[in-house]
Amino acid sequence: MSRMSRGGSFVRRIIWSVLLAAALGAAIHGGGAFAQEGEAIPEVADEAQPSATVEPPPPPPMLPPLRPPRTPTRPTEHIVQAGETLHTLALQRQMRVEALASRNRITHARLLFAGQQLELPAPAKPDVMLYRVTPGETIASLAARHHFSPNALRRLNELACAHCLANGQLLRLSAVAQNGEASTPAALPYPLLALTIVPEAPRQGEVVWINVRTASPLQSISGSLGETPLHFIARESQSAPYTYDALTGIGALAPQGLYTLTLRIVDADGEAQVVRGWVRVELAGFGFENLRLSARYAALLDPQTNERELETLAAALASFSEAQHWNGPLSAPVKGRILSYFGARRTFNGGILRTYHSGVDFRTSAGTPVRAAAAGNVVMAQALPIRGNYVLIDHGRGVFTGYAHLSRFNVTPGQFVEAGAVIGYVGSTGRSLGPHLHWELAVGGVLVNPLPWLEYALP
Ligand SMILES: [Zn+2]
Repeated sequence: MSRMSRGGSFVRRIIWSVLLAAALGAAIHGGGAFAQEGEAIPEVADEAQPSATVEPPPPPPMLPPLRPPRTPTRPTEHIVQAGETLHTLALQRQMRVEALASRNRITHARLLFAGQQLELPAPAKPDVMLYRVTPGETIASLAARHHFSPNALRRLNELACAHCLANGQLLRLSAVAQNGEASTPAALPYPLLALTIVPEAPRQGEVVWINVRTASPLQSISGSLGETPLHFIARESQSAPYTYDALTGIGALAPQGLYTLTLRIVDADGEAQVVRGWVRVELAGFGFENLRLSARYAALLDPQTNERELETLAAALASFSEAQHWNGPLSAPVKGRILSYFGARRTFNGGILRTYHSGVDFRTSAGTPVRAAAAGNVVMAQALPIRGNYVLIDHGRGVFTGYAHLSRFNVTPGQFVEAGAVIGYVGSTGRSLGPHLHWELAVGGVLVNPLPWLEYALP
């Protein structure tokens, strides 16, 4: 009995997350620029897993809450989002349009506007359970565990192919078939105990943390997410579970869809194996900007100039040092209002769309000291065509911060700096319209949105 009531609350929580995610999605697509900035959507907590499944061990305690809770506090109130209609809302709540309208005293279906508050009934308990896919699970393993035929599971979830399962994906399972005890553990091959990916379905511009736990120490572990190689570091441990961590990023222009996560491991006996999973990447809904540049910047608008500069940057970002020099959240390099956020799609002088904003711009006066966001080794302090006078700091584990358009340097390559050390001064060198600091964060060779990490510690 207690299991059933737990299951019911689990279903309600999941349903609410799904509905809110849909509402947020509509808000992002219908809303203005920069809807992604500062927006934060939580993971569904591990405890929300149904009790009949084997859960991976919880992530290490150092993990920050990447996103605040998604569950609304008053589930019967709903704020109408752009794109929502009485029809879509009625469909989500499995109720008739007329019932929804009369409950809210709406006399005409068109009299619904974004921002309007509606009273909705609590979702009906459906005759299916929702289940979140964990790494290593396949349609075959889920079907066996939940007493389904693989085909029935595919039909129930409208899966296009036999391996179309992404980590974190929600599946429908029949509630009737959920009453059995867990019969088999998640299908990870020995010595893998758990594979955790945070966030489960990352968006463009987000950092992804991949955590692998094993029953015995590995000789080596490497891998890739899509085309991006992963660098793992081993956490010191004298006993199982042995822990390996990699950090990577999702590019601002990364296409939406399923990405293959490939892990190549060699165990203590020298036995090699390859483990594959899928990670779903979602759009962030970045805004658009058009910048007006005078004729003297014409040479800097040449796409080849940008490509060459990105090659220089990529070469520096390709180095990997294991020691982690940051401790807690990053600190803002300057104080100042934000002029432009990460990821904004950019056109110049009304021309074709050819680039995106690779960092965050802070408005500050020329000569303001620029401070290191965390401790690390200075790997670049040089003039670049677009970024101007540029400092790049290696914080370890593939995490780098970059500081552009400086008037002058206060560090040299090879120097170790503490967090908050003055590394240079605000200027307007390179492709810049006036004094400001362009601040970048790269993780695993990918430029990502640095702002969340002023609040949370990088994993
Ligand atoms: Zn900028």
